[in-house]
Amino acid sequence: ALHLDVLTHGQGDFSQRLTDYLTSFKGENERQAREDILLVNFDHPLPENYQPKELVCLYEQRHSFRLANSNIYLARECYEPMERMFAAAEAENVNGFIVTSGYRDYQRQQEVYAQSEPGKAQEAGASEHQTGLAMDLSSPDCMVLNTWFDTTDAFKWLSEHCAEYGFIIRYPKGKTDITGYDYEPWHLRYVGVDAAEEITEQGITLEEYLKR
Ligand code: ZN
Repeated sequence: ALHLDVLTHGQGDFSQRLTDYLTSFKGENERQAREDILLVNFDHPLPENYQPKELVCLYEQRHSFRLANSNIYLARECYEPMERMFAAAEAENVNGFIVTSGYRDYQRQQEVYAQSEPGKAQEAGASEHQTGLAMDLSSPDCMVLNTWFDTTDAFKWLSEHCAEYGFIIRYPKGKTDITGYDYEPWHLRYVGVDAAEEITEQGITLEEYLKR
């Protein structure tokens, strides 16, 4: 029901576009669940005042993960499966996930964008981090061995298991023309188990999943 908030509080132009967008999926075979997945990209930006319903401060939790700083928040609907996912990884001796970024509000994203090289960050409104449903991850191996996240055991485990907890690797390799984003192995998005498993099994993106 996230989109209802957006429709209620959104700016006129955005609300109309979202309505049109949702209406375009009203096919007979369309599954209701798909309407509940919030799509955020250059073509579907969030309004400035969009905020997740309930944010959880990760620093205050007992957790199976580490934090890059004490000021990282996620929406509760994303935090709870994330906690289960990292606990499952830990039970299989895959340890030390570091959450480097979670919820970013519109103003924070404006700052990030202003401080970044062109093409390296999203404009405010076009970042999934504003949903509270996306997080960026790292692993101690990246720091100790100076290796890329997608070469770590942590990433290998996520690739095989994150869909079981409702997460997708949102910006896969070779899909930039569809997502509008470069490959970002560290950026996970919560979409729910059904969607995550279908997206992962078929090797498609959220954009492709929602358009079918
Ligand atoms: Zn990210």
